[in-house]
Amino acid sequence: AKPTVAIVGRPNVGKSTIFNRIIGDRVAIVEDKPGITRDRIYGTGEWNGRSFHLIDTGGIEISDDEIVRSIKVQAELAIEEADVIVFMADAKSGLTPADQEVAGILFRSNKPIVLAINKVDNMQREEDVYEFYNLGFGEPVSISGAHGFGIGELLQRVFEEL
Ligand code: GDP
Ligand code: MG
Repeated sequence: AKPTVAIVGRPNVGKSTIFNRIIGDRVAIVEDKPGITRDRIYGTGEWNGRSFHLIDTGGIEISDDEIVRSIKVQAELAIEEADVIVFMADAKSGLTPADQEVAGILFRSNKPIVLAINKVDNMQREEDVYEFYNLGFGEPVSISGAHGFGIGELLQRVFEEL
């Protein structure tokens, strides 16, 4: 069976940008199960001749007061479904309380987590990645959805967990 990989993180870190870069032109399906999984998008990715299911969580716009609750629901669903979770944050915003919120949920799961820091668009921003070691998920992978950097390395780390 194909492994399932879910991208989890607070809004605006670049989950959908990375999702689209990974699946390329492979068709994504919007699954609409009202009340439960209202905003996940599924696609098929490929890495080194191995294919996998990829879930982009948090695909709809939500109001501010709904954000924290929604992040929790999405993270919990992803934990259930995924074989590996890509926990995404972003170097441009730095570490935020919402990232800590997601980290707390993921920490309690027994699923392997790969921490990816997006928006590392240039070398100067590499130093902004250090603070994310504090999340306790080991060495972060630096990526840039804007430029496509680091995605091969990210998928390598994901497959090491399978
Ligand atoms: P999501 O809410 O986590 O799905 O985030 P999106 O993929 O919708 O991206 C949120 C914003 O960040 C958009 O304006 C993107 O264009 C921008 N973005 C995504 N990846 C990068 C990146 O690597 N660098 C920069 N500078 N911006 C990015
Ligand atoms: Mg999105």
